[in-house]
Amino acid sequence: MLGGGQLGRMFTEAAQRLGYRVVVLEPNRPCPAGLLADEHLVAGYDQTDALDRLGEMCEAASYEFEAVPAQAVEYLRNRITVRPDAQPLSVAQSRLAEKRFASEHTPATPPVPYQLIADAAQIPAALEQVGTPCILKTDRLGYDGKGQAVVETLEEAEAAFARFDGVSCVLERQLDLQQEVSVIAARDCEQCVVYPVAENEHRNGILHCSRAPANIPETVKAQVQDSARKIADALDYHGVLAVEYFMTPDGIFFNEMAPRPHNSGHYTLDACAASQFEQQARILCGLPLGDPAQHTPAVMINLLGDLWNGREPDWTPLEGDPAVRLHLYGKEEARPGRKMGHLCVLDSDPDAAYARACELYRGLSHE
Ligand code: ADP
Ligand code: MG
Repeated sequence: MLGGGQLGRMFTEAAQRLGYRVVVLEPNRPCPAGLLADEHLVAGYDQTDALDRLGEMCEAASYEFEAVPAQAVEYLRNRITVRPDAQPLSVAQSRLAEKRFASEHTPATPPVPYQLIADAAQIPAALEQVGTPCILKTDRLGYDGKGQAVVETLEEAEAAFARFDGVSCVLERQLDLQQEVSVIAARDCEQCVVYPVAENEHRNGILHCSRAPANIPETVKAQVQDSARKIADALDYHGVLAVEYFMTPDGIFFNEMAPRPHNSGHYTLDACAASQFEQQARILCGLPLGDPAQHTPAVMINLLGDLWNGREPDWTPLEGDPAVRLHLYGKEEARPGRKMGHLCVLDSDPDAAYARACELYRGLSHE
């Protein structure tokens, strides 16, 4: 596993449960996945000696973050199986490429209207085209709302572009979102399965809460699931793929995709027959896909470092309730905005699950 964060950690747990051994490559020690892995190679992703070692020890590799250097994937794939492969990764790494891909392959759920800005001289015309308010997003390396700026005027757009050091960006309309949803697909060379749609609530650009199933009409669920499946098929994707959609008064828009398990799919650990991480391990190891069926409605809430406030929150209210699952990632230092863990509440009544999750979160955050 390239990358040692919480996604790598949950992959490691799933793979080890299936009887595999896991090596993590990650420059930082300690790291959430490295604490559980059979071996943690502490090295940069550009260190060929470490990649050689990984290639000797492992039969297959995946990655847990989208910004994984393409050269590392390229180097490894000449030695061992790497999934997802370099081509789908290159699409998911670029907002421009993924928008173009969605325009072409899923026109029923098109990307938010956008313009490419490779040069400051393109800003005035792009702003004119897209209309304000709009959002400037770096083409690459953005996550958790980073590398984004809401802009209202030409001056603001130019200032934001300069702040991003003039790297290529997309400018897109800021839409009036009714709801945000995501779909997780797992695909191998034989079949593609999709999970129930999750409905997502963000705070400050970071995912706060996911409810599954989403509170949207069945026809809309089928439509976004179909779109995500089409994207996975068109990419000839082998792995777990997450696709985010915006619900607006003007229809459904593709937002972005991630070439890996996704925060909005953490509910699958507690609420589905096979989790998104188990699928990732199965696909990597050539096992048949697991069953994505959800057995109980679920609500997931992220626990960010903000909750720590100098000391670890008191988990007592969560510990006695069998319908509440607490997941902590083993991170020592709690920083604002840092994902430290999540909680998941299960209840046959989705509204009751949501109310309970919100109540528990309020207690933790003294909201
Ligand atoms: P990230 O890679 O940080 O997840 P996103 O493009 O998904 O980047 O943006 C993060 C969040 O910001 C979205 O989930 C959504 O809440 C909000 N957002 C992004 N783009 C738009 C948009 N065009 N209109 C309205 N809200 C947006
Ligand atoms: Mg996103």
